[in-house]
Amino acid sequence: MKNIVRVIAAILVLLIIVVVVKTISNKPSLQKGDVSLEELPSNAITHMSEAIQIATETPNDDYAFDTATFMAYRKFIEKNYPLITQKLPRTIIDSFNYIYEWKGTDTSLLPMVLMAHYDVVPVEASAVKLWHAKPYGGEVKENYIWGRGVLDDKSSMISILEAAEAQLAKGFTPKQTILLCFGADEESSGKGATAMVKYFKSKSQKFDLVVDEGGEISTESNPSIHNPIASIGVGEKGYVTLVLTAQKAGGHSSIPASKTAIDILSTAIAKVNQNPMPTKLTAPIKAYLESISAYNESFMQKMALSNLWLFESTVVNKLTEDPQSNALVRTTLVPTVFNSGVRDNVIPTFATAYINSRILPGQSSKDVYDYVQKTINDTNIKITYYKNYMTEPSPTTDVNSKYYKRLEKVIRNIVKDVVVAPMLMVGATDSRNYREISEGVVNFTPITDAKGYHGIDERMLVSDFQKCVNFYTLLIKGE
Ligand SMILES: [Zn+2]
Repeated sequence: MKNIVRVIAAILVLLIIVVVVKTISNKPSLQKGDVSLEELPSNAITHMSEAIQIATETPNDDYAFDTATFMAYRKFIEKNYPLITQKLPRTIIDSFNYIYEWKGTDTSLLPMVLMAHYDVVPVEASAVKLWHAKPYGGEVKENYIWGRGVLDDKSSMISILEAAEAQLAKGFTPKQTILLCFGADEESSGKGATAMVKYFKSKSQKFDLVVDEGGEISTESNPSIHNPIASIGVGEKGYVTLVLTAQKAGGHSSIPASKTAIDILSTAIAKVNQNPMPTKLTAPIKAYLESISAYNESFMQKMALSNLWLFESTVVNKLTEDPQSNALVRTTLVPTVFNSGVRDNVIPTFATAYINSRILPGQSSKDVYDYVQKTINDTNIKITYYKNYMTEPSPTTDVNSKYYKRLEKVIRNIVKDVVVAPMLMVGATDSRNYREISEGVVNFTPITDAKGYHGIDERMLVSDFQKCVNFYTLLIKGE
């Protein structure tokens, strides 16, 4: 008996030693880059301001598409980026999506794609009075450029154009062919990007690195980490909506049956709410935790993150406490629509609810369906897929790949002491389509202070704009 106690004690001591050594030896490896940023091209801010003033609002349906505005935006590009217009052949896909081709000196290399979209979400009429600048004024004040679309995603498009125009002016030719791909409907259907990828596939075109909007730089995501964290999107969650329908003979509300369609459906929704899908630590999130672990100034947190082999479930449980991080470790399920009833004195025959789900890589819409069906376990509920929009989780870009490493290097060169980490995108972007023809799709723009996405007071720091132009310049120059 004594021997067993001794053996257990020895194992415990050994375990503690391993955990502590792993924690202490996990040291930051910041490579301070050359962070002296190049000045913005002289007219860059004026161009950004003009771009905002052309209200390229995404329509709710194709018929409401404001052709004149999108044509004005095309003229704006042609006028302000004359070298791009003259020297880079443009292909127009489905009216307003553009591909500019910048031929490289080594055509044996796969091309790189720099992507952006220039449509913007509408400004709510009732919210205009809450803005501290005109939504489509393109004002520059308090070190910010203000207006709808300045972040999402004219920041990327104008920065790409500025960087390319400046390099063309210097007579630069890239080694690798570069395609500049600009979409006109990312905020609505995303059909433009789909059509562009279809066009590339028809030419059997494959790509090297593909850079689109998505990840950013955060300075406050974790109170125990004081370095800025640059999150590179390496994959996107899937999207599916299930339609739940309960049917039960209705009738007069004066003689109700024990369970109505509303009761049955409410019970089903409550069951789904009480039984979230199990957590799962996917490769990108595991790599994220490992990437940030060395910079954590709380010993306990650092110890847990440096020893995921032992503390994985504790860490994952902690992540589920916050809605944002919870969405990174599980396929989420949430009711978004609940419909039933027509009059206060009529028991309805039908009750319908939608459950929207964002699916983790490695799972599928079928897994979601099966899980919800099993959880509800009620033959009175019919479950179908909502057909309007549905997409499986995207493949993910490997954090050890040359694509990820290249982006990491560029980011470290423009942001001092930055920690670079992969991230899973919970929303969809145009770049998802490109994953079919590239293994190197990444989502990132070096924005440190993103305020007002899709909301009021959308604005961008002038210094962030400068970082964005520098970011694309380094990518174009292959540095
Ligand atoms: Zn966007």
